Amino acid sequence: MKIVNMNEIKYSLERMRCPKCSEHPTISVVGDSLKISCCCETFKELLNKTAETEISKQTRQNIEKQLKNIFK
Ligand SMILES: [Zn+2]
Repeated sequence: MKIVNMNEIKYSLERMRCPKCSEHPTISVVGDSLKISCCCETFKELLNKTAETEISKQTRQNIEKQLKNIFK
């Protein structure tokens, strides 16, 4: 079972809009990582941080789900 669904993270990042330029980013999934193309460095940093947060959130949720199944 895959712990993190990269496509879900891709879609949530693509819904974001740059606070400075009002542009949406283009995200591609390359293997287990994300390639971010966007308007400026500031937004790229923000997207990277959001991606990290999302990945750790999903990892935690999925591990908890698996543990629940084990201890049923
Ligand atoms: Zn921008």
